[in-house]
Amino acid sequence: MPYELKSARYLAADVLSRAVAPGDTVVDATMGNGHDTLFLCELVGEGGRVYAFDVQPQAVENTKKRLEEAGVLDRTALYCLGHEHMAEKVRGPVSAAVFNLGWLPGGDHSVTTHWETTQRAVESALELLRPLGVLVLCAYPGHAEGDREREALMGLLSSLPPQRFNVLWHKFLNAGPGAPECFVIQKQKE
Ligand code: SAM
Repeated sequence: MPYELKSARYLAADVLSRAVAPGDTVVDATMGNGHDTLFLCELVGEGGRVYAFDVQPQAVENTKKRLEEAGVLDRTALYCLGHEHMAEKVRGPVSAAVFNLGWLPGGDHSVTTHWETTQRAVESALELLRPLGVLVLCAYPGHAEGDREREALMGLLSSLPPQRFNVLWHKFLNAGPGAPECFVIQKQKE
């Protein structure tokens, strides 16, 4: 097959499929319509655990339906709750945490992620990661809150100590202002 460079979302899925193993505990910080939650359920298998958060009841309903249809609901804990409360709910350590920032596709665009709460959640997720665990974030600049969130995220991630974390930034430089960007943070070995 010819090799083709792929987008932020593809990289996120590729990293997760390598970093997550059957039996693991993982977090979906923004469940939305449940695509990532389902993908994580498949990666952790029957013996694993997927914690997922969203502030919108509609998102939780959509996700629950998707997981029920796939027969994997019993390996999840779904919370209609902001991801900033992650530390109160998740029993770590986790091998991966996923953030797909922004708004619910097909939903209310005014309900988007905001840096103040994203920051608290990202800091919690970094603490919950086991050694070599990964935090995978997709950010969508190109609208006011998305730009603000992405700038602040760059600041936080750039300042992480390299003795504790490796931080990767993936974007197509010539794709225009709204192109998604993927950040992968891996906790160092102890
Ligand atoms: N990963 C999802 C999927 O596979 O369909 C898409 C996620 S969507 C881009 C972003 C989601 O973040 C929206 O559903 C929105 O309701 C949710 N969100 C906004 N603020 C949040 C918060 N503080 N905590 C958790 N979720 C939040």
